Amino acid sequence: MHDLRRALTRVNRCVIKIGSALLTNHGQGLDSLAIGGWVAQIAALRAREVQIVLVSSGAVAAGMQSLGYKSRPHALHELQALAAVGQMGLVQVYETAFQHHGLRTAQVLLTHDDLTNRERHLNARSTLRTLLGLGVIPVINENDTVATEEIRFSDNDTLASLVTNLLEAELLVILTDQAGLYTADPRLDPQAGLVQEGVAGDPALEAMAGGSGLLGRGGMRTKLLAAAKAARSGAATVIAWGREPEVLPRILAGERIGTYLVPTEERMAARKRWLADQMQVRGRLRLDAGAAKVLREAGRSLLPVGVQAVEGSFQRGELVVCLDPQGVEVARGLVNYGSDEAVRIIGKASGQIEALLGYVGEPELIHRDNLVLA
Ligand code: GLU
Repeated sequence: MHDLRRALTRVNRCVIKIGSALLTNHGQGLDSLAIGGWVAQIAALRAREVQIVLVSSGAVAAGMQSLGYKSRPHALHELQALAAVGQMGLVQVYETAFQHHGLRTAQVLLTHDDLTNRERHLNARSTLRTLLGLGVIPVINENDTVATEEIRFSDNDTLASLVTNLLEAELLVILTDQAGLYTADPRLDPQAGLVQEGVAGDPALEAMAGGSGLLGRGGMRTKLLAAAKAARSGAATVIAWGREPEVLPRILAGERIGTYLVPTEERMAARKRWLADQMQVRGRLRLDAGAAKVLREAGRSLLPVGVQAVEGSFQRGELVVCLDPQGVEVARGLVNYGSDEAVRIIGKASGQIEALLGYVGEPELIHRDNLVLA
């Protein structure tokens, strides 16, 4: 094993993206045999307790096959319609293949907006975390009916990086039809070599991937941009050839396959900065001394019972600061209830939330996974 890659053996949560070119059988619809192969590899990783989220394209390709298209149409609305048709077949293939291994799947369709809007971001995060907790494999695609980013530009590379941020996965694996990033185009330059390791976001890598020209759909450049995005929440990325035998377990065993791109920052620091960068503080929660202590010392979630006052006006999913009775910041995090609801449940036991609000979202005001200590 290569020393740099040792961290890959300790990955707990991994987002795996499989692109259209790999999923299709020379334009003849979905390659169920190949899909069965990746599913078996994922099942082997699940058996080792690695949590896996799959981001899969292939809906347009499957739709073309279903409706007898010989070539990919150009009109976006037609591609969107094909994706809607093909998504049915795509999830069926995954559901059947995972069932052979006793695993259940869930279809999750997302847009970039879903992941930047605070409330939907938190909703998506809670649902996906719950699915992972239930041992289910989420199979994510762009919601092509209402969004066209991935159809136009990146064939789900960007979506996969946003999901990596959303779930704070340690690793993004992008499976593609090339061995990884080359120093130059191997078709034109016999001296071109595979870049085995690099730093995500390094401009020198982008130059190798074809400079700063127009974004090619799903080209190496979009993969490097995806790696740079994934690194913002501290995740590493591996770009590798999807047909390499046992590619997934071998990557997670630290074998030197494909291109491994590491983040510059350590995970906790990245996570803190990521929270700070993307959100403004919308409110303050004043904690009692007991709650301040358990947050600081035990790394626990913040329950409504430990909060004495709510300041500011905020929505579910926004960033709030938690202050101790002396007014010193203890932590900041994404709040599960908007300020109007928060004022009604503070000081109360979580078991009373349903009686107070008429529904129960989460028992915590801020879940510990969504908290960063000061
Ligand atoms: N979400 C699209 C799909 O699954 C993106 C890929 C494409 O445009 O072919 O098909």
